[in-house]
Order: sequence, then structure tokens, then C-alpha cells
Amino acid sequence: MTETFDALTRLVGAGDVVVLSGAGLSTESGIPDYRGPSGAARRHTPMTYQAFTRDPHARRRYWARSHLGWRLIARAAPNDGHRAVARLQRAGLLGGIITQNVDGLHTAAGATGVIELHGRLDEVTCLDCGNLTSRDELDRRLTEANPGFDAHVAHVNPDGDVDLPDEAVARFRTVDCGICGAGMLKPDVVFFGETVPAPRVADCFAHVERARALLVLGSSLTVMSGRRFVLRAAKLGVPVAIVNQGPTRGDGYASLTLDATLGATLSALADRVAAGPVPAAAV
Ligand SMILES: [Zn+2]
Repeated sequence: MTETFDALTRLVGAGDVVVLSGAGLSTESGIPDYRGPSGAARRHTPMTYQAFTRDPHARRRYWARSHLGWRLIARAAPNDGHRAVARLQRAGLLGGIITQNVDGLHTAAGATGVIELHGRLDEVTCLDCGNLTSRDELDRRLTEANPGFDAHVAHVNPDGDVDLPDEAVARFRTVDCGICGAGMLKPDVVFFGETVPAPRVADCFAHVERARALLVLGSSLTVMSGRRFVLRAAKLGVPVAIVNQGPTRGDGYASLTLDATLGATLSALADRVAAGPVPAAAV
């Protein structure tokens, strides 16, 4: 562990590191990681783009549950892990930050220029006119359209997941775009079954190709959307380091893996790097 941590410190201390973060970085902020060690039992299948756009009932159910679950996300604050990444960036050691998270917590912790691969949950897009509005504004409109809705909720789980009986969903009123008047609204995040916009992917690849190392933080790399950057780095001979709780699907490509909690490990890493160069291993 100590040896691996020292190696990680040398890798990051040398600079030009591109960070790729996932849900595991935000679990300490109270945002559930459904694929992580504590999230084996995901009770609801994720919404797909196809179901959302084609099935009015699925869409109503999504917004009803999301309207309640949004409070959890809106309340979430960055943790030590996010703050450590921002410190590494301020120290000039990062060549970029790519995140698979949609919670905006890297930026909230003071990081800049974050590439949000899967979009942001605090923005809402109109599928007709393309107008972007804030989720807070939509939250106000949904609350207005559904007075007293919270009282109908059967159960909000500690992780923010919501059990909603069908009759509550049936009563829920969704709202359309406030700009063009009738466009379908969708959170500005990439759903399952939807592709990440090509320019955003190209931007990520360009960052990885320029990097001296790729540092994966809190991602099990289950989906190709993030794993492809690890594959590209490995192909180019860019060293890959992974800090995650539990094994990942990128471990076979990594020159360094550290199975540890993110907040404490990254804080220690930022402290060590700030303290100056780490002597090379005596081997
Ligand atoms: Zn619109």
C-alpha cells in the first residue's frame, strides 16, 4: 500500500496528468454509486433514451421520481476527494479533468475546465428548440404544477431512490419547454442508449493523447463510455493509474492500482505532492 502510494505520488508529482473520475468519487458526498461496493442491489433499471422519448408513462415516472430525488443532488456538497483534485489542478499538475459524473461537484470544489462527459443534472434541455434552462427553474415549475406532491411519496430511501406507487405517478404533471412552449424537456445528461456528443469525446481523446499519465478516480470502468479512454491510453503507452474501491474493468491495463477510499487517499496525495518531490524508489 505504502509503496503503491509512493509510486502514485511520483506519477502525479511529475505533472501532465489527466484525471478521469466516476461515481466512486461522489459517494462520500452522499450520492449513491450503484455499481460500487455498496450498490450491488440497484432496484430500478436506468432510464434509457428510447423509453424516455417514446413512452409518456416512463417519462412521467422519471420526472416524478427525479423531482423528489433532485433535492438530494441539489444538497450535495463536494468532499475531500473533489477538493484534492482541485488542489492538484491549482498546483499545475493536471492536464485535464474528465468526469463521468453529472453532479457538478468538481466545479463546485473549485476545479475549472472540467469536461463533463455525461452532461450535468442541474441543466435541462429542450429536445425541440435546444434551449438550456436551469434545473432549479424546472424544479419551481414542477412544484407549482404538483402542489403537495411530496406528501404522496410512499418512501424515500436513504440513497435518494424513491418508491412511488403507480397512482402517484399517474397524478404527476410534467411540464414542457417554457421557451418554445411545447418541446419535450430532458435533463442535459447522457442517458443509457444515447451517445456522448462526438466533439466532447474527441476533446477527451485529445486530452488523453497529450497526457503523461491517466489517473482514474472512483470508476469501475464498467461502461465503454469511460473505459475507451483507458484503452486509448494503454494503446499509446500512456501509463494508467487507478484509485478505486474494488476491482475495475481497467485493472489489466493499469501500471498502478490502489484499492482505497477516495477522500482520504486523494487528500494525502495532494499533501504529499505539495510537500515536494518524492525520492525515487530504491530498487
Ligand atoms: Zn423548447
